[in-house]
Formats: sequence, C-alpha cells, structure tokens
Amino acid sequence: MAAIIDGKTISTQIKDELKQKAAELHERGVEVTLAVIQVGDNPASSVYVRNKKKGCEYIGIGSLSYELPEETTQEELLALIQELNGRKDVNGILVQLPLPSHIDEDTVIKAIDPKKDVDGFHPQSVGALCIGQKGFVSCTPAGIIQLLKRSGVSIEGKECVVLGRSNIVGKPMSILLLRENATVTIAHSRTKNLKEVTGRADILIVAIGKPKMITREYVKEGAVVIDVGINRDENNKLCGDVDFEDVEPVCSAITPVPGGVGPMTIAMLLNNCIESVELQS
Ligand code: NDP
Repeated sequence: MAAIIDGKTISTQIKDELKQKAAELHERGVEVTLAVIQVGDNPASSVYVRNKKKGCEYIGIGSLSYELPEETTQEELLALIQELNGRKDVNGILVQLPLPSHIDEDTVIKAIDPKKDVDGFHPQSVGALCIGQKGFVSCTPAGIIQLLKRSGVSIEGKECVVLGRSNIVGKPMSILLLRENATVTIAHSRTKNLKEVTGRADILIVAIGKPKMITREYVKEGAVVIDVGINRDENNKLCGDVDFEDVEPVCSAITPVPGGVGPMTIAMLLNNCIESVELQS
C-alpha cells in the first residue's frame, strides 16, 4: 500500500509556522497585507479568492478585496494595479486568473511590481527562478517541493518526470526540481512513447488537466506520484489527472485529489506574502 501524502495536514503545519512569523512581524510593528483582485464572478475563481482571504485571516495578515465587474476595462484594471504598486501598506498583489477575454493576462501580470508579485508569474520572477536569484516562486510547484520534503521523499539524484509544461506549473516545477539536484525530464502532448518516459520516473508529477488519464501503465513500481490535476469526473466528482484507485497499489506514495497539492498552493501564497516583507526591505 502506498503512503498517502496528506496536503491538508502539511499545509496546516506551514500555515501555523507562518502564523508565528506574522505574529513576530506584528510585534516589530510590521503589518502584512495582500490585495486580491477578481474581475467578473467566475464561481471557481470566487471559491479560490474566498479561500485565499480565509488563509490570510488564519495566519493573521490583512487582505484587501477588489471584486470588479466583468465589464471592467483593461485600463481600469491596470490603473488599480498601479495604485496598489505605489501603496506602502500593500505587500502582495494577486490578480485571480482567468481574466475575461477582453483583458490581456500577460499585460496585467507584467504590470504588477515584481516585488509584490506573490503569485510568482511576472517574467522577472520567472527569470530570477531560472538563474537562482531571489524572487517569488510560483505557488503550486513550490508547494509540491514542500510536500515532498516534509513527507521525507529525497529529491537529489532522482529521475523526476514532469508531465505538463505550463508556465504556472510544469515549467517552474522542472526548474525547482533541478534546483534540488534531480535529473529532470519534461513531457507534454507531443512527447513520443509517453508511457516509457513516465515509466522511468522515481518521482512523477502530473499536471495535464486530463481526468484520470494516468493509469498504472504510466508508473514505475515504487514511484512517488504527485497529482496536480483538478477535474470533474463523469459523476461531477472532483478528481485528479491520475487514476488514484488504479495507481495507488503500485506506487510508494501518492497525493489524493482533493487534499493533496490543492491546499499547498494557498499555503505557499501565504508564505510568499510573509517573504514579501524581506524582499521589500
Ligand atoms: P495547462 O492546460 O496550461 O497545461 C497542460 C499541459 O499538459 C500542457 O503542457 C499540455 O501539453 C500537457 N498535456 C495535455 N494533454 C496531454 C496528454 N494527453 N499527454 C501529455 N501531455 C498533455 O494546464 P495547467 O498546468 O494550468 O494545469 C494542469 C492541471 O492542474 C489542471 O487540471 C489544473 O486545474 C490543475 N491545477 C491545479 C492547481 C492546484 O492548486 N492544485 C494549480 C494549477 C493548476 P502541450 O504543452 O503540448 O499542449
């Protein structure tokens, strides 16, 4: 039987550590505040935004909420970001994605001051990550490194396969694994002999957005499997990109969905908010 990597418990540990750090900052007279911007009322985004605000409350930092109507223009959004960039009492700025189609996400991401880019999506943050300089790291991949470390999975020297090459998960994930001295392969929709490639992995990280696609044929016996996917199955139940029931008996450790990677993303966002104080000083 595989060990179940419990993201709920590990994320609570991290949040409790952050609560302590927030209290220490408070004692030094430093208050931390995250500004969260949502445009439109996409229900999934509303849930994420609510959870992020709850996370701020839990660790004892402030949050400012901007819920803008769907018709908000790009200029109006950019003007708000400029205002928040200039405010000394705002440490982090988060624009919930996706944005309505009339707004260009890249332009909006680039408008955020890199020192307040707690999502780690700004090109400057990504560049800093690539060359090993200080900066914010994208929350989901950073959370996966914490999940592995805190579950006692050693990364150094391991064959790691990252399935998926998105800017927010796959690419930064591969760089973080490299930073931990893993041997890293990135696979994607054009990869040939995918099962052979994923089958080499000691640690397999799957972020493709395809419900339960990864069955045991893709997994080496004894591998550690991290499932980033958040999908709905045919019964509208939450599920990952990995077929948990099928893969769990052959791997050594696996993350469930829900309760695996998901809770870590918010914990690492909160971590970035606390770290912003140092980056801004
Ligand atoms: P994207 O859609 O941006 O990227 C998907 C990647 O998977 C692409 O690189 C694509 O390849 C690859 N891919 C798609 N189909 C296949 C296939 N059949 N075989 C091999 N590779 C394939 O997704 P994201 O990275 O944004 O998200 C991935 C999943 O993770 C989603 O389910 C999302 O909801 C979830 N997610 C969860 C988070 C969390 O907090 N737990 C946070 C972020 C995302 P190509 O580049 O060739 O098109």
